[in-house]
Amino acid sequence: MAVVKDDWRFGLRYFVVSAASALAAAGAIAATYFLWPPATLPVVLVVLVGGFIWFMFWQRRRLGSYHCPKCRRHIPEPTIKHPQPEDPIHYYCPACDIEWDTRLRHPDVD
Ligand SMILES: [Zn+2]
Repeated sequence: MAVVKDDWRFGLRYFVVSAASALAAAGAIAATYFLWPPATLPVVLVVLVGGFIWFMFWQRRRLGSYHCPKCRRHIPEPTIKHPQPEDPIHYYCPACDIEWDTRLRHPDVD
């Protein structure tokens, strides 16, 4: 039976990077809208939707690049293969027999 241990650092880092990039994206969109008047609402919407799709893709990639905090082994995917919204995001390291709790939860959108 695997031991469940807390890896809040991954969760915190994940959250901080996500929040910072969301702020940067919002800032970039606002700047485009105000500094470049030809950028009308449809252009902003296209940038927004494109940015969102890229963001979701990027989030997926980040979730696939977890490393065990103890042995640094790469763990390509969370333990729950077909998660429901609000399911916790855990990673299992077979070498250490530890299940890492990132304190992250799967978002409502998929
Ligand atoms: Zn490990």
